[in-house]
Amino acid sequence: APAALAAAPAANAVVDRKVYLNFNECPLGPSPAALQAMSRGLPTTGRYRFELAGQLRELLASQLGVPAERLALYPGSSDPLNRAGHLFTSAEASVVVPDPTFEAVADVAAAHGAPVRKVPLAADFSHDVEAMAAADPRAGLIYVCNPNNPTGSVTPRARIEWLLAHKPANAVVLVDEAYIHYSEQPSVVDLAASRDDLIVLRTFSKLYGMAGLRLGAAVASPALLARLEQIGENPLPVPAMLAADASLRDSALVPTRKAANARIRQQTVEWLQARGFSCIPSESNCFMVDIKGDGKAFSQAMAAQGVVVGRSWPIWPQRVRVTVGTEAEMQQFRTAFTDVLKAGG
Ligand code: PLP
Repeated sequence: APAALAAAPAANAVVDRKVYLNFNECPLGPSPAALQAMSRGLPTTGRYRFELAGQLRELLASQLGVPAERLALYPGSSDPLNRAGHLFTSAEASVVVPDPTFEAVADVAAAHGAPVRKVPLAADFSHDVEAMAAADPRAGLIYVCNPNNPTGSVTPRARIEWLLAHKPANAVVLVDEAYIHYSEQPSVVDLAASRDDLIVLRTFSKLYGMAGLRLGAAVASPALLARLEQIGENPLPVPAMLAADASLRDSALVPTRKAANARIRQQTVEWLQARGFSCIPSESNCFMVDIKGDGKAFSQAMAAQGVVVGRSWPIWPQRVRVTVGTEAEMQQFRTAFTDVLKAGG
């Protein structure tokens, strides 16, 4: 019989001695306060705990400065992202996305027959909002990812405001702020508190280290939230709510993790650039490095050295996405990178 899942190693970082820098997860996992809140609350997980969902909604809404009726919690931000891909696109209503970006919403739209309009990032790696606004007068959904995945590059708030002012009137704009906690950019969540054509997504999967726990949020008008809800309800995982509550109450968590990530990212990028490998400027927990060769072969060679890095996107076959790990993990990344370079001649 297969071993019980509970017998798997408890540590967040090490399951098989490989270093995982491939899914933009936080290498630190849930905060100590989150772990404690979860273990205390585990016996209550036989219940749905709807009252907890209500309290958490109030807490997150007040921290974001939006009315609670404009915020809906989901088990991860993929859930509302997928819903938006279904609801606001069709054979007649395209989705407009930057290229490269996180593909989930375009994949959902394409799967039900909607055209996908890919707009390359601008020369400074921000979203080309002029081209996105003009991409399709029949756009149903315009996806903005800030900071962008996979680049970590940012789009200034003024550019997003310009997009909102110039997009096709009927298009819904979805701003995915999965990585906003790592960046210096202001959120646009306040705009979702006053407009009826904007959805802003947040997640606990990244800086909060809760990817496997599943909790995210959508901020939008009550009418847009009601449309997202039409696809069906999905109660929230109780451990995730307990962890999120404890994390939000820990005011040092975001600044501490943000600073550590920025420092380790900077060290790694400087190391690569000193060796002639340019990196796209990032304000996130990932960056893209130009490895001056086939990105896919490079990722495979790194994995063979025990360091699993991200992938390339079709538009840039020589650039590879790397997630920022701990200092020790990035040391292993540098060692593997050096070995792979040597082997490649
Ligand atoms: N949005 C972006 C930009 C992401 O990179 C990810 C995950 O990698 C998600 C959304 C989905 O995250 P989750 O469903 O864990 O909140």
